[in-house]
This record gives sequence, C-alpha cells and structure tokens, in this order.
Amino acid sequence: MDMPDKIRQLAELIRNSAGTVFFGGAGVSTESGIPDFRSESGLYSAQRVYGHSPEELLSHAVFEHEPALFFRYYKENLIYTDAKPNAAHIALARFERQGLLQAIITQNIDGLHQAAGSRNVLELHGSNLRHYCVRCNAKYPLEYIMDSANCDGGGIPICAKCGGLAVPLRGNCIVRPDVVLYGENLDDAVVHAAIHAIAGAELLIVGGTSLAVYPAAGLLQYFRGGTLVLINKTATPYDSAAQLVIRGAIGEVMAQTGAILT
Ligand code: NAD
Repeated sequence: MDMPDKIRQLAELIRNSAGTVFFGGAGVSTESGIPDFRSESGLYSAQRVYGHSPEELLSHAVFEHEPALFFRYYKENLIYTDAKPNAAHIALARFERQGLLQAIITQNIDGLHQAAGSRNVLELHGSNLRHYCVRCNAKYPLEYIMDSANCDGGGIPICAKCGGLAVPLRGNCIVRPDVVLYGENLDDAVVHAAIHAIAGAELLIVGGTSLAVYPAAGLLQYFRGGTLVLINKTATPYDSAAQLVIRGAIGEVMAQTGAILT
C-alpha cells in the first residue's frame, strides 16, 4: 500500500472508530524543532558534550548528587521556549474538537498538545512548564528557574518562599522540574487514567515514539481494542502487532489525515 492509501485508511479508521486514543513521544515534537533522544541528530550528542547519556543526566541520582550538572543539561537541552505546536499537535487538537479523539497520552514534557488546544492530555512524564520546591512544594513557572537571579552560583534554582539564597538551608530548597526523572516512579493517578483510556479504546494510534522507554511503553499491553496504528520514522518493537504501519513524518501524516476528515 502506498502512502496516500495508508493515509486514507487511517482517516477511515478514525472516522469509524467508537473510541480513539493517541499515544505519542518525542517524535511528535521534532517538527516543532525539539530534538528527540534516539535520532542521530537528537539528544544523544549529550554523551559527547556532557560525558553522559540523557538517561544518566536526567536521572534522580544525578539530580540528587550533581544538581549543578543536572540543571546545566536540563536548561541547555530540555527547554524550548520558542517552540510552537506543529501540524501533528494541531490535527490532534482538531480531532478532539470534532469528537474523533478521546485522549492523548504523551511521554513529552513540552506542553505543546495543550498549546495546540488539546484538553484531555495525560502527561506520563510531567511537564517542564511546571516546577516546585522539593521542601515546601511552592509552585514556580519555567521563567523562575531560567532567571539566574533565582539560582545559586551553580545555576541551581532556590526557592524564594521557604529559604532564598541567603538561608543556610538552601540545599534543601531546590526548585525542581515537575518531570519524572529516570529512576523515579510515574504518577499513579496519571498511569491509571492512561490505562483506563487505552483499555477502553477501539483504535489506538501510536506515533513518534521508539517505544523503548519503560514503563511508559509497557502501557500498550493494556490495549484490547480492534486496531493498532503505528506512525514513526523508524521501526519499533510493536510494528508486527500493528494493523497499519506508516513510516513518515507524523506532522505531514496527521495534516493529510486531517484534511480528509474536515
Ligand atoms: P525517542 O527519542 O526514544 O524516539 C522518538 C522516535 O520518534 C524515534 O523512533 C524517531 O524515529 C521518531 N521520530 C522522530 N521524529 C519523527 C517525526 N517527525 N515523525 C515520526 N516519527 C519521528 O522518544 P520517546 O519514545 O518519546 O522516548 C524518549 C523520552 O524522552 C520520553 O520519555 C520523553 O519524555 C523524553 N523526551 C521528551 C521530549 C519532549 O518533550 N519534546 C524530547 C526528547 C525526549
């Protein structure tokens, strides 16, 4: 089947489904200029620049023991304040408005689905738009941690409410991202909502994810529905389980699918 046929088939599946859920990852945002982890041009260059893999740099252990390194990597590589929703985010938001999509489950932390207008978004790995003090739980926006006036000499953001830079206890007052780091547990409520959505879906569209990050990728095992669609530039471990595999840029695929469904 050629690409136009596959896109027509995807549109038909979406149109005829009683319940559709989208499960996505970093590849959904590459067309917004945010690199993924596993593509060659992606964040794996971290090894060359910082001497560690992204998994190590974004681990609970590095956050705990080398917070200056953690925040340097995080601020230099995970924050894209100019990124805008791309055609994939925009099409998915429209599907929801049209009643064609029930939920988005994302591994991304960039908030671009909500920026595109999607409402039912389950963020498995949290969001880099939200930050909080590990000691008093005070909430802070992204701008706070990016302002060097709120950070110590190592670039570590310090809570102004429970300590501030002048207080000796400030080591306990780090403002951290509301993001699930490697080595940390996913939020129970979000996982349960994601399982509920996947288990109740008739059509599951998985896109822009290598399906290599667990436990997120393991959620697919809860799918009991009829049709699994995979949209990814490269092969994934679930390709053989899918009824439709589309190898392509997800923004282009979703835009063309959306054009059929208008
Ligand atoms: P990944 O980096 O492991 O895999 C991304 C996949 O998307 C790859 O298989 C790649 O071939 C594919 N891809 C890239 N661009 C694409 C496009 N335009 N169209 C279709 N496919 C495309 O990503 P992952 O599986 O999400 O796992 C990485 C982890 O890193 C996740 O936990 C995620 O939270 C995090 N992460 C998030 C962001 C973000 O928030 N935007 C960015 C990088 C990493």
